Amino acid sequence: MNTTRNFRCGTVAIVGRPNVGKSTLLNHILGLKLSITSRKAQTTRHRLLGIHTTADTQFLFVDTPGFQQKHVNALNRSLNRTVTQVLSDIDVVLFVVEPQNLTDADRKVVTLLPRNQPVFMVINKADLMEDKGKLLPLIETMSQEFPFTGIIPVSAKRSLNLDQLLETVREHLPEQAAIYGEDELTDRNERFLAAELLREKIFRLLGDEIPYSVAVEIEKFEQEGNLRRIHAAIIVDKESQKPMLIGKGGEKLKRISTEARQDMEKLFDSKVWLETWVKVKGGWADDERALKSLGY
Ligand code: GDP
Ligand code: MG
Repeated sequence: MNTTRNFRCGTVAIVGRPNVGKSTLLNHILGLKLSITSRKAQTTRHRLLGIHTTADTQFLFVDTPGFQQKHVNALNRSLNRTVTQVLSDIDVVLFVVEPQNLTDADRKVVTLLPRNQPVFMVINKADLMEDKGKLLPLIETMSQEFPFTGIIPVSAKRSLNLDQLLETVREHLPEQAAIYGEDELTDRNERFLAAELLREKIFRLLGDEIPYSVAVEIEKFEQEGNLRRIHAAIIVDKESQKPMLIGKGGEKLKRISTEARQDMEKLFDSKVWLETWVKVKGGWADDERALKSLGY
């Protein structure tokens, strides 16, 4: 480690359409140890997702509301503007794609990329490319899509080239002291993270069918030794949306819950007992199947 270098600290947004590996990338950079150590009030203007501190750099990975949504195509102009504003306030943007030509969904994200900030294209899942000779032509094609500051192939899952990615990002962060302590990993609490993990599974497993307005509410979060007991309500607008979430014989909700629980167990490094149900906004009273609960 070169200790003569000045310390740098800045914000990094990871954007891209669903399923390209944004969460995997963040988790592998953070070393899969995103747990809660910080009670400090936020000192950046963004919501932090994770903090990664090395000997000479503190990377603050921040959330970009709207961008991570399934429904980038549903963004209206004002939301678009908000996203662009949020991004223009970030030091580096990482636009994650898969090693193939851009899809329409990728291109929608491209339209929101800021023009005055360093934007790197991260070609993730490089491990899936059997013919590495195709990488250079792909980078060439991608460079036509946007004036990227750089294009970096990585494999988030196998942690390939992540050090180089971070080293490149570092060069674009401002020279300043660390904002958070070196042992701090996030400013989110577990309750929030549990809701996020569940919400992510809903979007992942329901695809485009799911209404934009679906919300998750953690109704109970209790810790008993090395067990977390979590009760979560999935809130939809209309009664008619419930069957989509619950699925035939409850199998959809069961799958969502199981996968979310597994992620929570990894994140919290504990056993998780997760109970979920689907609730229609407006209350329980008129809702005969509201307590359709699936425990584990
Ligand atoms: P997100 O929706 O962009 O956050 O995507 P996720 O991080 O949830 O990843 C989507 C899927 O891609 C998951 O099944 C990951 O295991 C897989 N994935 C992510 N990174 C890689 C990678 O580098 N290589 C391979 N082969 N799969 C990956
Ligand atoms: Mg994700």
